[in-house]
Amino acid sequence: MQPAPAEPAQILEAHSTVLGEGMPIARALPSRHRRMVGAWCFLDHFGPVDVAHGSGMRVGPHPHVGLQTVTWLVEGEVLHRDSLGTVQRIRPGQLNLMTAGRGISHSEESPLQRPARLHGAQLWIALPASQRHREPAFQHLPEIPRLRHQGLALSVLAGEFLGERSPADVHTPLLGLELLADSATQATLALRGDFEHALMMLEREASFDGHALAPGRLLVLPAGRHSLQVRTDGAARCLLLGGEPFTEPMRMWWNFVARTPEELRKASEDWNAQAGYFGQVHGYDGPWLRAPLPPG
Ligand code: MN
Repeated sequence: MQPAPAEPAQILEAHSTVLGEGMPIARALPSRHRRMVGAWCFLDHFGPVDVAHGSGMRVGPHPHVGLQTVTWLVEGEVLHRDSLGTVQRIRPGQLNLMTAGRGISHSEESPLQRPARLHGAQLWIALPASQRHREPAFQHLPEIPRLRHQGLALSVLAGEFLGERSPADVHTPLLGLELLADSATQATLALRGDFEHALMMLEREASFDGHALAPGRLLVLPAGRHSLQVRTDGAARCLLLGGEPFTEPMRMWWNFVARTPEELRKASEDWNAQAGYFGQVHGYDGPWLRAPLPPG
């Protein structure tokens, strides 16, 4: 039997929104046309932006449940504080993975002494049923696997590629890979046919299987593809994200991932009442963020 033809690719426009106190971002997921790619459920691209003047990034203490956050910087620095007592400067090329499980809170800010530019991505991964009530954790990985492949510099953020496995603790079959070209490049990447994938451009432009892509758009490749043709006319940087389709009945509200509207409402109300399971963030000079209540 011939394999079923793969579904067509989809291009999504990211929508512009504001993070914390005025940091403009482009949010590719969730979108009206697509909620997830594998367990990846939230894709934000911030910058490049000049943070030499003003307060830079300031996102006051806020909670998460049921998900992991991946922070990946291209330029600049972010200071992360969380309710586990972690105080971590996040720098380009380092992977930072916060696992919320049953509940965590954190703040994110530009440190006082900082490079002039800030540019990066924050990505969320929905946790499966077996992990979503687990204890929270924070993993700072200053080194992740890097390899050269057909002219591309690849960094393995999550999962495995060409035999190199990221030490990031993820809980569903996933791929997070940065592709960096420093000049015109043509390459072929092997894909897992059981994964769906997305490409998120961080710098400049490239084409993937003939689809031109620039920052502000997401190219989604449904499962059933076994390779990807990458072509750039010069330097370019993007993220390739993939995973097994996430089939649990996931729901999102604000900073929470759960399964039912009742769970989302409870998480919002519990945070606004400062329930103990979210812990406390110490050292952030500003107010904590109140949760909006879900409709109903
Ligand atoms: Mn957060």
